[in-house]
Amino acid sequence: SVKTRFAPSPTGNLHIGGARTALFNWLWAKKWNGKFVLRIEDTDRDRSSPEFEDSIKRDLKWLGLEWDEGPDVGGAHLPYRQSERLPLYLKILKKLEETDCVYPCYCTPEELEAERKAQLSRGMPPRYSGKCRNLTEEDRKKLEREGRVPSWRFKVQQRDGRIEFHDEVHGTYALSYSEVGDFIVMRSDGIPTYLFAAVVDDHFMEITHVIRGDEHLPNTTRQLLVFEALSWQPPSFAHIPMILSREGRKLSKREGAESIDDLRQRGYLPEAVRAYLATLSWAVEGEDFLFDLNEMAKRFELSSISKSSPIHDEERLRWWGSEAIKRKDLKWLADVIVKKASEDGLPVRITTEELTLLLPEALSGQATIVELLESLNWLFLRPQVHEAVPPWMRDLKAELSKLGDWNKAKIEDMLRAFQKRLGLKAREFFHPLRIFVTGKISGPPLPLIMEVLGKEEVISRLVD
Ligand code: GLU
Repeated sequence: SVKTRFAPSPTGNLHIGGARTALFNWLWAKKWNGKFVLRIEDTDRDRSSPEFEDSIKRDLKWLGLEWDEGPDVGGAHLPYRQSERLPLYLKILKKLEETDCVYPCYCTPEELEAERKAQLSRGMPPRYSGKCRNLTEEDRKKLEREGRVPSWRFKVQQRDGRIEFHDEVHGTYALSYSEVGDFIVMRSDGIPTYLFAAVVDDHFMEITHVIRGDEHLPNTTRQLLVFEALSWQPPSFAHIPMILSREGRKLSKREGAESIDDLRQRGYLPEAVRAYLATLSWAVEGEDFLFDLNEMAKRFELSSISKSSPIHDEERLRWWGSEAIKRKDLKWLADVIVKKASEDGLPVRITTEELTLLLPEALSGQATIVELLESLNWLFLRPQVHEAVPPWMRDLKAELSKLGDWNKAKIEDMLRAFQKRLGLKAREFFHPLRIFVTGKISGPPLPLIMEVLGKEEVISRLVD
């Protein structure tokens, strides 16, 4: 049965690229009633941290992408953190040693750097020369007596031609053998490289499909050589194209490589982010099903992932944001707004029920909960108005105080009669009035707003 994995390195927050990878893996597993594994690739000890692991897990959960196996939930292939699997990698390295597929390399970082520079200056692509490949037992002993601890390199047989494989998105991908140097599988400190650890884990965790960013395409050719050397059946691969900025560059923080945490704090709903991510690379028609994860899984196809890079577009994300808000249950939205307002320390003088009735009039394309709250902040705060006070304000206040039934119909009748009597154009009257009551130039109908705020509050806002 199908099994996929998301294998983040906990060296930063989850960004939209990684989140899209996680989503596609989740969808593919669920489509086939399979399993989705979370594996933490923390072999880069200097850059990995438990805080990033926690924030990645929190963000995946927020997106609704729960894992069937992984940290916190366990599974048949414990542990799920690479730093806790070191004995396994050593055991597999031994196997490769026995079959003469790896050799110890004693080159120092300085020697390797010098070699790299020399190759580059001769216009050659840098590739390990294979210097340590033919050391005799004698040479090795001597180097070890000098105190050198080797790393281990995989022997790439130098054949003619190319290493080819089939990718579900890109079709045939090939790299010629001459471009692939003997690569390190185990560092001198006993920590495996990503190239090696991922192969071992994908095998033992019985991963059937590897879906990841296409910057890994060249790595895959190397990893396939390791699978072959161990006589292991490799999984299928689908490499999804990198998300680019509007300028056609790799997303960087500066160019809006949003983290999921940012998007949540800016008030996007998780279903909006999910739907938006799905449309980055997946050519889909119709939108409603994109708000339902299970429905999305049913329709998801690796074969409909496009080869070309999608562009991250904040405007499109906003569109999905407002579509998601429109589809929300009003009572739920009202609850969230009231909660958020009180969390923000705003005085809350409206009940969830009242707000539920007001919301249909207040929704006007807000993309996030934060924007929705901002458009309704007149409910909670007296606006700071800097406009000149209209000459009729004092009379209006007097008439409003006399109004018996404080409801929107009565308020509307009174306001219209007042406006006519003074011979004012609707705009001349209602526009400043709205500003004094709400601080905004648009929003729900004014009589409704006034009813909701209550007589006393409205009158106190009409400074004269
Ligand atoms: N840890 C790797 C990364 O973050 C995972 C790549 C893979 O999915 O194999 O890019």
